[in-house]
Amino acid sequence: MIFNESNSMIVASQSDAAEKRTDSINGHRSLFSRRNFKVGEVIATFYWDQIFPTPTYLTVQISEHEHILLQPEYLECINHSCDPNAFFDTTRKHLIAVKPIREGEQFTFFYPSAEWDMDQAFECQCGSDNCIGMIKGAKYLPQNVLKNYQFTDFIKGKLAARG
Ligand SMILES: [Zn+2]
Repeated sequence: MIFNESNSMIVASQSDAAEKRTDSINGHRSLFSRRNFKVGEVIATFYWDQIFPTPTYLTVQISEHEHILLQPEYLECINHSCDPNAFFDTTRKHLIAVKPIREGEQFTFFYPSAEWDMDQAFECQCGSDNCIGMIKGAKYLPQNVLKNYQFTDFIKGKLAARG
């Protein structure tokens, strides 16, 4: 999701690591880093107390029929990018940096890294050089795109089973 920098923001510091910004005009939420992270560093530990049988635009998939709502809740504000700097490891329950992240940078993750077949496909406008366009879930990604990303253990299992 692209932020219009001219809109005014409601800013809330959610942790030592993250700051949630809400666009006061369109309500779009995003999460920004409050410090630098190295590749592989844990940005946040997460958990869940609600599991749903079907996905929504806010859930993260952990198994075939289990879709969680992230806690702490501000983590659900992390937007998609085709050139992400973070990854939700749903086995270790860690949000980890997959690129060096600078203080003030927006956290992003690649939605298909955790989603097999998304509830709401969308046309990506992340603006990165390797933007793949339509985001529908890992199920729809060709091999030459798959090799560029990390995936959760659940998605890796699905890809392996497909052969
Ligand atoms: Zn994109």
